[in-house]
Amino acid sequence: MTSAALFERAQLSIPGGVNSPVRAFKSVGGTPVFMQKAKGAYLYDVEGNKYIDYIASWGPMILGHAYEPVVEAIREYAGYSTSYGAPTELEVKMAELIKSMAPNVDLIRMVSSGTEACMSALRLARGYTGRNKFIKFEGCYHGHADSFLVKAGSGLATFDIQTVPGVTGGVSNDTLTCAYNDIAAVEQLVAAHPGEIAAIIVEPVAGNMGCILPASGFLEGLRGLCDREGMLLIFDEVMTGFRLAPGGAQQRLGVNADLVTYGKVIGAGMPVGAFGGKKAIMDMVAPVGKVYQAGTLSGNPIAMIAGYTLLTELKKNPAIYEALEEKGRQLKEGIKTVLKAAGEPFVINQLGSMISVHFSEQPVTDFASAAAADNAKFSRLFHALLAEGIYLPPSAFESWFLNNALSSDDMARTVEAIRKFR
Ligand SMILES: *Cc1c(COP(=O)(O)O)cnc(C)c1O
Repeated sequence: MTSAALFERAQLSIPGGVNSPVRAFKSVGGTPVFMQKAKGAYLYDVEGNKYIDYIASWGPMILGHAYEPVVEAIREYAGYSTSYGAPTELEVKMAELIKSMAPNVDLIRMVSSGTEACMSALRLARGYTGRNKFIKFEGCYHGHADSFLVKAGSGLATFDIQTVPGVTGGVSNDTLTCAYNDIAAVEQLVAAHPGEIAAIIVEPVAGNMGCILPASGFLEGLRGLCDREGMLLIFDEVMTGFRLAPGGAQQRLGVNADLVTYGKVIGAGMPVGAFGGKKAIMDMVAPVGKVYQAGTLSGNPIAMIAGYTLLTELKKNPAIYEALEEKGRQLKEGIKTVLKAAGEPFVINQLGSMISVHFSEQPVTDFASAAAADNAKFSRLFHALLAEGIYLPPSAFESWFLNNALSSDDMARTVEAIRKFR
């Protein structure tokens, strides 16, 4: 069995042969690699090739694939039933655990994806403020709910999709956009729509246009503006939550959000998301309040035990975050050294276990500067590394995610492969 044959077959039964667009390798070209299994830091494809993994399933595999405590817990709980449609103690323990780790979370509701989390948080912000419009940033991705599919980062940028068929003008007219890191533009937008804006939603460290760090004062500026104008600040921590720190970007960067959304790490690879925040706001959610939100599989026991087990490990062993930080630093310094020696113009953005490399002479601080980089060169880098058994995200508009199973040697091999790349 080869990936090429499977991809041919897949396209006869699945749109584009994949169940999520970026997997199709459209941005970098070539045939997607079909995976068979993974363990620790390594992926194994259907042809028996082994790869060092820098995607970590786009984040969840923060301690590596098939992490033994998670696998065992799933095995045990699967025997009790895969779903009840009734509450369980496990959901209570999961909510208590998240509250003990994340700042500003009095109440938390579990859902089944990051998309659902962000969609629900926005609905709640609208219900709470009685306002319709909201601000998002160009290049930030908050899932594929209609309201968010405006200038929405990696997936859409990869396919050069500007306006999305199927999203009505009525919906997208309530979505206001600004360049990331441009606080002056946000202030102008707010001034132009007095009393109309329910919320500002932001990736506190952006990961869907490459890895882009918030400029000093940017998130604090949003916080101040929200306080002044009665808007809610929503941190989309689907990527950063439980990754940048046990308490996510809120803790790592010291800025408080009114509502927070989670996904990815929170489910340890199972379909899980969550949204939470202050009691006064979360009390608007049904069945206490009138903002309706529900899910047949929300709080699913297998998903809960997987996430609960992983988060418990992260909570009891904060040294994991120091180790991830050190891996990020080692990779960044290694790549810097070889690209500098090669005389390449490049930018590396990194915070903790999120990192991206851009072939650019300018700092990469927002979507426009990420798009202006030499992304054809990134595609060549992607394929050069793939041939060396190193699996990067298949788009220049994605962050790489480090997992704690990566060894120094894995990263040294990665740096060496980049040195050989021309
Ligand atoms: C992945 C992602 C989402 C969407 O999560 P899904 O589980 O894919 O629906 C939302 N926001 C951010 C920041 C993400 O990275």
